[in-house]
Amino acid sequence: TSFGFKTIPEETKESLVKNVFDSVASSYDLMNDATSFGVHRLWKDTFVSTLKPGRKGPLRCIDVAGGTGDIALRILDHARETYADRETSVEVVDINAQMLNEGFTRFKKTMYHNTPQVSFHEANAQELPASQFKSDTYDLYTIAFGIRNCTSIPAVLKEAHRVLKPGATFACLEFSKVNNPLLSTLYDQYSFSVIPLLGTILAGDRDSYQYLVESIRKFPTQPDFAQMIRDAGFSTGPNVDGGAWTDLWGGIASIHTGVKL
Ligand code: SAM
Repeated sequence: TSFGFKTIPEETKESLVKNVFDSVASSYDLMNDATSFGVHRLWKDTFVSTLKPGRKGPLRCIDVAGGTGDIALRILDHARETYADRETSVEVVDINAQMLNEGFTRFKKTMYHNTPQVSFHEANAQELPASQFKSDTYDLYTIAFGIRNCTSIPAVLKEAHRVLKPGATFACLEFSKVNNPLLSTLYDQYSFSVIPLLGTILAGDRDSYQYLVESIRKFPTQPDFAQMIRDAGFSTGPNVDGGAWTDLWGGIASIHTGVKL
């Protein structure tokens, strides 16, 4: 790349991604806070509170690439606090058992532990086992900071479309493209120097965090990603800002939604 890092061949991506998250699982939550100054929490709050699932709860949700359960916890808290809903459920799906394990341990301290409201499943977003994740089943599919780690975005979208009920919502929170040139330069400086350094200091693992930064740069732009969502059979937008997506912090991250046609 222009930053002098090795580019990762696509065929090795899946095993590499698995290793990256094996290696960062225990420090993942700490690193998220350190690298984003806690901003990922605000984005996740915004993401969950602005979701419009298309029907009233209780909802059956699937949170894919759900990692340590950040989104699942917010969905359940939001349902309970806003609608006094204790029946909405979230199935957390991730390819990495160690991330799920961190999530499971964390949920032990919550009121949702040992209830039908949350469960953890090891599976690949690109090929959710059809016997376990049946077609036309979920009211809401979420994926946060996960889709860019997948080898095939169309395969993920196809599976999302399959498991959702007609009229149900797909919602994705992901790092995106910064449009403002000045912000973009500052952000590049920060991500390519500070984040790998923080990775070294806090997690003892520079390469994994370098990979994460690189994967952000390779992700499609907002209009291209919106088109991919439409190509998978969803209608997109208008979102809160009237477009097919909502930029957060000038496009450092963005929220894309689609409704299954
Ligand atoms: N959604 C969580 C959050 O927002 O905190 C976790 C995000 S973490 C950056 C990305 C997650 O994607 C990791 O837990 C990783 O194991 C998972 N992942 C990567 N590739 C995947 C795939 N093909 N299928 C399912 N999960 C995957």
